Amino acid sequence: LHYRQARFLISAATLAQCPTDVGAEVAFAGRSNAGKSSAINALTSQKALARISKTPGRTQLINYFTIGETGRHLVDLPGYGYAKVPEKVKREWQTHLSNYLRNRQALRGLVLLMDVRHPLSEFDQMMLGWANEARMPVHILLTKSDKLKRGPAAASLQKVRHALKEWEDLVSVQLFSSLKYDGVEQAHAKLDEWLAD
Ligand code: GDP
Repeated sequence: LHYRQARFLISAATLAQCPTDVGAEVAFAGRSNAGKSSAINALTSQKALARISKTPGRTQLINYFTIGETGRHLVDLPGYGYAKVPEKVKREWQTHLSNYLRNRQALRGLVLLMDVRHPLSEFDQMMLGWANEARMPVHILLTKSDKLKRGPAAASLQKVRHALKEWEDLVSVQLFSSLKYDGVEQAHAKLDEWLAD
């Protein structure tokens, strides 16, 4: 698919504000700083596509991007885990995220980003739990893989695969580096699979 043609479409604060629930979309989620914006930019060969999500005040919004094919979207979900967010706001995020995962018909799969050095945080486990309840396929990108040598990176990959062994029908895992563009083809193959007719 034509990921290079990705363009910002719309921001939504709630499920109700998302585009009409038809077509097919893939959502990206991760703790803040996991490398989500960098990965979306790397996957679309653009320098600042996902920058819009970083604008202060926009961090809690669901951002939609069109790609070259009509009715196909990439969705940037709110980053989670900002240090100074009040409990009430955290709970609102959780409600929006879980509603989105459970109720969005167009959603074909979830790309979950985790820093290869600190995978499976509490937030990651929560997202995996919701995805599993919704029987939603998940593809994990272990980001910033260039920060580790080959051996430790492979060990982290194995550790995550092993921890999620019982969900292997729904969950796949790969190493990814936005800096080196490592893993871009593998991630595209998964997106293609999900976004195919
Ligand atoms: P987000 O909050 O999840 O959107 O994270 P960002 O994409 O903004 O990345 C957070 C920080 O990690 C930034 O300083 C990035 O430059 C850095 N970063 C992101 N991806 C990579 C990567 O593949 N390799 C390295 N070395 N740093 C990265």
